[in-house]
Amino acid sequence: MSSLSTQVLVIGGGATGLGIAWDAALRGLKVVLIEQSDIGQGTSGRHHGLLHSGGRYALSDPVSARDCASENRILRKIASHTIEDTGGLFVATPADPVDYPDRWVSACSQLNIPAEEISLSAMLEREPLLNPRISRSFLVQDASVDSFDLSHLLVKGIQEHGGVVLLRHRLESLIRHQDRLVEAKIIDLSNDKSLRLSANLFVNAAGPWAKTITTMAGVELPLALGKGTLVAMSHRLVNTVVNRCKPPSDGDIIVPVGTVAILGTTDVPVKEPTSLDIEPWEVDLLLAEGDLLLPGLRDSRPLRTWAGIRPLYQPADNGDTQTRALLRAHVILDHEETDGLQCFISVIGGKLTTFRLMAEEAVDLICDKLEIDQKCSTASTPLPHESGQFLSLPSRLEKLERQHPLATTDQIVCECELVLRGDIELALEKSAAGTELDDLRRDLRIGMGPCQAGFCAFRTYAISSEYYSSPPSLKGLHNFLYERWKGIRPVSWGSTLQQMEFSRRIYLDLLAAGPKSEKRS
Ligand SMILES: Cc1cc2nc3c(=O)[nH]c(=O)nc-3n(C[C@H](O)[C@H](O)[C@H](O)COP(=O)(O)OP(=O)(O)OC[C@H]3O[C@@H](n4cnc5c(N)ncnc54)[C@H](O)[C@@H]3O)c2cc1C
Repeated sequence: MSSLSTQVLVIGGGATGLGIAWDAALRGLKVVLIEQSDIGQGTSGRHHGLLHSGGRYALSDPVSARDCASENRILRKIASHTIEDTGGLFVATPADPVDYPDRWVSACSQLNIPAEEISLSAMLEREPLLNPRISRSFLVQDASVDSFDLSHLLVKGIQEHGGVVLLRHRLESLIRHQDRLVEAKIIDLSNDKSLRLSANLFVNAAGPWAKTITTMAGVELPLALGKGTLVAMSHRLVNTVVNRCKPPSDGDIIVPVGTVAILGTTDVPVKEPTSLDIEPWEVDLLLAEGDLLLPGLRDSRPLRTWAGIRPLYQPADNGDTQTRALLRAHVILDHEETDGLQCFISVIGGKLTTFRLMAEEAVDLICDKLEIDQKCSTASTPLPHESGQFLSLPSRLEKLERQHPLATTDQIVCECELVLRGDIELALEKSAAGTELDDLRRDLRIGMGPCQAGFCAFRTYAISSEYYSSPPSLKGLHNFLYERWKGIRPVSWGSTLQQMEFSRRIYLDLLAAGPKSEKRS
């Protein structure tokens, strides 16, 4: 078994862990981050993609609202290329409490969250599909953020400053020496080899898995998990984020992201970080609530569904069983103070929007504990940006149009998201051993468009087979298609069902790619 040592070991490669490792690396600390799968596989790749203006929590959770508002301003400066400035609207429909907008706008003004009331005609000019019976409408500074791109840039930032990111490395156990955490036993899942890593400080940033990590260290963590289901509509029905102007509840937001519009979300208490099953009532509710904002939405085509799990801090004195009622603000626990265990902290809760602030506070504490005097510089350090690597659909289209059609040597592999063969080959070249189709999806968006991997999955699989000396197992292709199928199944009616059946027949009948029992059916 090989062994390594570092100053800081970060467990978890979601936005929280990546932010902490980036901040620590920028301050000159020796840092290693381990992630059991690929970046963006946990909650950080399973949300709406909303860069909060703060408006959503102005009345229910002012601390979180204030944090979101200030981080929104910072992220627009340091990660501008991952953000689309869609703007946001808070609108009062006939179903919403009439006294709410006045209370809400005054809370926004107290928290310094810009919210400007606009006329209904101005609102409809901006978003013509909105319900004409909406009574009031406010403009806020919401935006949409691409968390896959953001995560990639954070990895690059960590590595550029000497930090190490180990993907497919899972923490198996933590070793204590009396009241001190001293070592982690880690398994490299790409080759099943074990590794021992000693560190001066261990950071638990495992999101919904955070309790599993503290259990390994023999301490308790008061964590509640809330599942949220989302539905992506196959068109970008709005260009502005649209929120209901009422207390946060199920189905109260629509976020335009890339070519789709995302309806969110529900909040269902669950026991496990893997409890991602979607229930029919959730889809019905999201479509019904969305229809109040955009009349006729129910007749538009839903593309797919997915769910994410919120890790929420639940102090012992809060017996609330409803996760919607728990605060969204983040918590940093020093286990020396809470449990008498030295060299171990947990960072939980918060929002993707506030990952940088969470990291700043966590690394301030780490520096205090390690007696290092280094100030945080992430608020003024732009994330590295490799032009042309992470491309939005419009810039991919522009790239294609710039090429003379006859001079095109690069083939289009995913027509929906305009991914070229060269993009895939480049991603394979840069990726770690054991890269799977789902990792390429997070890198390049293959399989995320309207046909949901009808064609690009087997083409990408073929390209990967040519690239690696021994062809990747068919299991990766099956898993990829199964994940797509799980997301489409809850909305399988109308044209979505037709598309699904069409893709199924391609895979089963043309390519014989199904499990043995299905090939015969
Ligand atoms: C439905 C939903 C919608 C949301 N919408 C928004 C939004 O629009 N805007 C916003 O700002 N926030 C949003 N959020 C909140 C935001 O997504 C989360 O706060 C944030 O992504 C949490 O990131 P994290 O890094 O703490 O957790 P994760 O992203 O889950 O990262 C934890 C990582 O730890 C890894 N890990 C676990 N165990 C181990 C182990 N043993 N060894 C190694 N690695 C391990 C996991 O694989 C995982 O990648 C939403 C949340 C949900 C659930």
